[in-house]
Amino acid sequence: MGRTARRLNPLIVACGALLGLAGPSSHARGLAAAGKVDITPALDTHQVYLAGFGARGRRPEGVHDPLYARIVVFSDGKKTVAIAVLDFLGLYRNDVQDLRRMTRFDKEGRYLFVVAAHQHSAPDTLGMWGPVPGVSGVDHGYMRGVKEKVAAKVLEVNDKLKPARLRAVVSRVDPRGLCKDIRDPAVIDPDLGVLAVDTPDGEPVATVVNWSCHAEVLDASNRLITADYPGALCSAVEERRGGTCVFLPGSVGGLMTPDVKSRDFGEARRIGSELGGLALKALADAGPPTVFSVGYKSETVLVPIENSRHLMFLPSMVFGHKLRNSSGIPLPPSSAYSLPALHVLRRLKKHEIPWIETEVSRLDLGPACVLGIPGEVFPELSMGGYQGQFRAGQALTSPANPDPPDLSRAPAGPYLKDLMPCKAKFVVGLANDELGYLVPDYDFKVPDSLTLLPRRPGHHYEETNSIGRSATRIVLDSARRLLQ
Ligand SMILES: [Zn+2]
Repeated sequence: MGRTARRLNPLIVACGALLGLAGPSSHARGLAAAGKVDITPALDTHQVYLAGFGARGRRPEGVHDPLYARIVVFSDGKKTVAIAVLDFLGLYRNDVQDLRRMTRFDKEGRYLFVVAAHQHSAPDTLGMWGPVPGVSGVDHGYMRGVKEKVAAKVLEVNDKLKPARLRAVVSRVDPRGLCKDIRDPAVIDPDLGVLAVDTPDGEPVATVVNWSCHAEVLDASNRLITADYPGALCSAVEERRGGTCVFLPGSVGGLMTPDVKSRDFGEARRIGSELGGLALKALADAGPPTVFSVGYKSETVLVPIENSRHLMFLPSMVFGHKLRNSSGIPLPPSSAYSLPALHVLRRLKKHEIPWIETEVSRLDLGPACVLGIPGEVFPELSMGGYQGQFRAGQALTSPANPDPPDLSRAPAGPYLKDLMPCKAKFVVGLANDELGYLVPDYDFKVPDSLTLLPRRPGHHYEETNSIGRSATRIVLDSARRLLQ
């Protein structure tokens, strides 16, 4: 214990022990169950705005396909892990904590892992896409209803646990035609992870699929609510295999976007269906079930809000997080208004910048290990690739880039997947919070540390949608501790 305590970064305000740091127990019996609940807004009742692509007051005109919360619960009789994936762009920590309280998954021995599949044509749940910049697009009545539905479904699924077995496989696929990288260097995570949950006689309960690409086949011109390609993927898997499909977004930062011929529903269906088919094909090679085990660890860490745009729109950050000082002590609610005013008058000094809590986590589910990152991690942080190993036919750096990354300064390994102690490695982004992009430090370029405008030439959009430079190091350090 002493050694661990000395290594801990002072920024950690709580450690996995708080949530019942629990290793897998290999002789326990395995139980699982799954289900889904429709969370599509009723457009005649709720005033929602579509999230994604900059604030432009996109009001939906209809629903193309439904949004779901998909849930799978694993238990060894002592420890229970529930995974809930919602068809939204993101969810903040406060929403995750609400769901834990509502389901009593904030108790020892129980852990609720909440993920947003990162759809860009689903309601604004983060307060960033209202009618005009700075005005939230969140319909709080709708959000309350969603949380009630999701909490009820988690409890219902948890009541239906039955004996289960687990198989996992990671298939390395050619991403061409599925996903491409539009920020240099070209690094595309080609790993399609699949965790199958079946009854002892082989009836499918759930299929968990991990793939790294933004759910944005449909672009800013779309006005219909859709779950984009993850919805099509899950429909394909549920139709062909049965049970509930649970999509976990992977390393989607830096910037993984669908490789499409046109931004339409046909292409969303094509990509979803192809990935679903590849997942089921991979499963055929997954081998026999392995020992059922359930483990989880998490760390709560503090990160500073360094992005000037976030500092100026602090009230919407407060909606998702409590503001704190650098020691983790909560700031008075009025600081959400006084700090932006001060920042506009004269830049906030380093010691005046507010901090927020976020969470990094690890699940061990039989043959699969899952690393939960609270934002959009770049694939190169997950697996390297600075020598072009994962460029999938793209140029490593685009000749047209006026300010390409200096790859001689790129970090050497080991990278996150190198540190994961299992064969089936699932890095999951947008897990338990959304901090925006987690940009590698060597290529984090902003004018005069002001993460607003003018944006640097070249590929530097992601910096403007990150919480700041320091968050990447803090989150990665925490992930490395959890993987030790
Ligand atoms: Zn994104």
